[in-house]
Amino acid sequence: MNILFSSTKEKPEFWFPLLQKLLPGDRFFAFPDINGGDIDVALVATHQPRTFANLHKLRLIQSLWMGVENIVGDADLPKGVPVARLIDPGMVAAMGETVIAYVLDWHRHFYCYRDFQQQKTWKRRRQYLASDRTVGILGLGELGSSIAAKLHAMGFHVAGWSRRPKSLDGIYCSTDLEDVVGRSDAVVCLLPLTPHTRGILNKDKLQRIKRDGCLINVARGGHVVIPDLLAALDSKHLAHAYLDVFEPEPLPAGSPLWSHPGITLTPHIAALSEPRTSAAKIVDNIERVRRGQKPLNTVDFAAGY
Ligand code: NAP
Repeated sequence: MNILFSSTKEKPEFWFPLLQKLLPGDRFFAFPDINGGDIDVALVATHQPRTFANLHKLRLIQSLWMGVENIVGDADLPKGVPVARLIDPGMVAAMGETVIAYVLDWHRHFYCYRDFQQQKTWKRRRQYLASDRTVGILGLGELGSSIAAKLHAMGFHVAGWSRRPKSLDGIYCSTDLEDVVGRSDAVVCLLPLTPHTRGILNKDKLQRIKRDGCLINVARGGHVVIPDLLAALDSKHLAHAYLDVFEPEPLPAGSPLWSHPGITLTPHIAALSEPRTSAAKIVDNIERVRRGQKPLNTVDFAAGY
């Protein structure tokens, strides 16, 4: 197989050694070297423009990220070639750690105590039990369902929203967004970015989160209407927001989000792709295609994710 790597964010030198070891008979190329168009598999994550334009023999597009909106939205995407999402157990674990850290930062008021320390103020805030709080998870997929189970095990009430009805042990599952957001003290966004979910966290939804609650967006920047979030923070309806993803990225130096006292932000690091835990999944999909089988975790283009 001829395997092409194209990414504006991931580095081939980070991925190639492990993949070459697992696929010793295959040849690897890094865009723009497309081997005269003779490429069987494209490994992509925020790929370079025109990556797919001259690849007429492609049999698999394997994402190196869990989110695939950049691939799905590419006008050059060859028709009929399966696009597979990366389901990486290392990323699922990392995302769990990040979301739990943010939920606890808000729940235990650490964001306040950091301010109090700056002001040399010795002040205690009221303590809540995990069972006093409901965490709403938007998206009960690979990431959301795992995190919902972890938060439930910690004693939080957990409500989750998905497109299709779901049943998860101990989790209140619903397909009614207003219902889930309305019963939540903290809302975690773990949705794919699609035309249906863009701008979903708007004024109406943010106002439905319980007062003094928080928003955690670790999905994509396009899910949140930023002026509506700033209004919810400035009016003190929301106590804090944790933002890992933005539009555009990198976040411009002039953005008011950098210095807003109600926001903790990180540079899209909530869960990074990890070759050590994902290489076996990628190799498995390549071997399936080599055997003429359907790859796993393919994108449903009608749903957009
Ligand atoms: P997934 O397995 O595809 O799950 C997506 C979930 O969202 C599913 O439960 C799905 O419902 C639900 N959903 C999608 N569209 C919906 C709609 N219109 N209405 C209601 N629910 C909808 O995705 P995942 O692997 O958990 O990843 C989620 C997202 O996390 C990725 O797309 C990516 O953008 C983001 N991410 C961010 C980072 C980071 O570092 N910040 C890292 C990894 C991933 P069904 O269950 O009914 O399909």
